[in-house]
Amino acid sequence: MTAAHHPMTGNEASGRPITNFGPDFPFAYDQWINHPHGLGHLPAERHGTEVAVIGAGMAGITAAYELMKLGLKPVVYESRRLGGRLHSEPFKAAEGIVAELGGMRFPRSSTAFYHYLDLFDLETRPFANPLAPVTPSTVIDLEGESLYAETADDLSPLLKDVGKAWHEALEDEAAFSAMQAAIRARDVPTIKTIWNELVPAFDDVSFYGFIAKSAAFRRRSFRHLEVFGQVGFGTGGWDTDFPNSMLEILRVVYTDCDEDQHFVVGGVEQVPRSLWQQPQEQLVHWPKGTSLSSLHSGAPRPGVAFLERRADGKIGVTDFWGDHRSYDAVLVACQSWLLTTSIDCDERLFSQKIWMALDRTRYMQSSKTFVMVDRPFWKDKDPETGRDVMSMTLTDRLTRGTYLFDLGDDKPGVICLSYAWMSDALKMLPLPTEKRVQLALDALQQIYPKVDLKRHIIGDPITVSWEDDPNFLGAFKGALPGHYRYNRRMYCHFMQDELPPEQCGIFLAGDDIGWIPGWVEGAVQTSLNAVSGIIRHLGGDTSSDNPGPCDRFNELAPLALPDD
Ligand SMILES: Cc1cc2nc3c(=O)[nH]c(=O)nc-3n(C[C@H](O)[C@H](O)[C@H](O)COP(=O)(O)OP(=O)(O)OC[C@H]3O[C@@H](n4cnc5c(N)ncnc54)[C@H](O)[C@@H]3O)c2cc1C
Repeated sequence: MTAAHHPMTGNEASGRPITNFGPDFPFAYDQWINHPHGLGHLPAERHGTEVAVIGAGMAGITAAYELMKLGLKPVVYESRRLGGRLHSEPFKAAEGIVAELGGMRFPRSSTAFYHYLDLFDLETRPFANPLAPVTPSTVIDLEGESLYAETADDLSPLLKDVGKAWHEALEDEAAFSAMQAAIRARDVPTIKTIWNELVPAFDDVSFYGFIAKSAAFRRRSFRHLEVFGQVGFGTGGWDTDFPNSMLEILRVVYTDCDEDQHFVVGGVEQVPRSLWQQPQEQLVHWPKGTSLSSLHSGAPRPGVAFLERRADGKIGVTDFWGDHRSYDAVLVACQSWLLTTSIDCDERLFSQKIWMALDRTRYMQSSKTFVMVDRPFWKDKDPETGRDVMSMTLTDRLTRGTYLFDLGDDKPGVICLSYAWMSDALKMLPLPTEKRVQLALDALQQIYPKVDLKRHIIGDPITVSWEDDPNFLGAFKGALPGHYRYNRRMYCHFMQDELPPEQCGIFLAGDDIGWIPGWVEGAVQTSLNAVSGIIRHLGGDTSSDNPGPCDRFNELAPLALPDD
């Protein structure tokens, strides 16, 4: 039931595309990074200055890449692997076939992320989401009954009506079309007018509360609400997000995060890895051909264990093996909870208001289990029904979402047997791989009694539980009702003009600092905020014809809600 299939979204409307432009901070990141004059300049005496970057995920690598191009010397620390949650794990038994353990489908509206992806010769293809045009068929299996659909027209009257109710609710309660039109037009005053009214109205409203109280669902039935939770919109079931802040859900749907998604052939991890490896031609200070890799002799520094404000005013960084260095500027680009778990962080580096926000941040759990299969057999036709023998599957059974990766008839296929969140992910947490696979196969057997999926499996299965890894502690942020103020504090921390000196010079970026967690675009946008803050902190400036997030902050700042 993707919004793309519903006439009320206005997605087919002509004009400029919907992008991740606001609504909280409607700054055109894509224009800033595409501008021929670059992101800014640093005084010549700053060239070669070391800046610590903690975490080599997409946020850390993007910032390091831009800082290097400006003539600074990023020193990247990483405790696990380059790419972080853009983790494409290869199946050992094959060449170039991967399981996307973290991010796997990237909406075209993520224009800052695609700016970096497009620097490299990487192929993307449309992702086979439920009922997406590229998806041969979708099975929706609820309460023991399966429905087979090739297009939205094949949906049952109930499913069609659930989709209608969701769009009515968005339209009636959250000015959906007006906001999308304003985002398309990059009309900042209209975006601000709509959003600044919704923020106080919805800050204390959960996703569930929004739907349950909406006139559109109230005049229908509980069954509609329940089915919506299982089937959701765009990428699949959303009931695991029911406790989340409705503001977060609105940001996702306004900016089409759940629409027109692509995957990267060979794995998305190639994006951060290419940014790390590729020699650069246009750099300040560094000789042509310098890369992040060459500045680091091929590998990042180890993980960070200790952060402190030193007596000389610099920030001391100590790695896991005890190496100490000090910096004028440090970017923390790992999950912020790690500042209270794996990193011993001098409390004076942040205000207590920021600590409150960092600690109250809430992460969602997520597990995925993948198998490689001999070929995309799911496209075989059942001789009795003429239907695909297996389909992209949404179900209330424990697998929740099963996704099929067709890499060509002459290649193995990949099946994400189960992509689950929250309680459904916790059910998997203590279980070994084999048990996870078995449970998923048992569930799918109920839906596809004629398919012997096991017979197609080749190689070893791959599974992940992000909450089980001390380098992450969770999959991504999922803000709760009442968290707007915390999100705002973290997001705006790159503006350091008013901070006391002992809190300046340390910056935050990454998935949990952004407004739309769980989407890599937020990690990229917050890393660009940090770059803007670091340029300013080190005495640099932007070009007058290409102002950055710091320059435009006062004009575009997210609405402040009172604390007292
Ligand atoms: C299951 C899942 C599905 C997702 N699906 C999508 C999707 O389909 N589309 C989409 O756009 N986004 C998706 N995302 C979100 C996307 O993957 C993230 O937003 C993005 O990868 C986060 O990048 P980051 O740099 O902020 O953080 P990370 O990638 O977490 O990078 C932080 C790095 O810091 C390192 N680190 C931790 N502790 C230390 C330390 N002490 N010292 C040094 N380094 C340290 C970590 O090892 C890690 O490499 C998904 C994420 C998950 C987990």
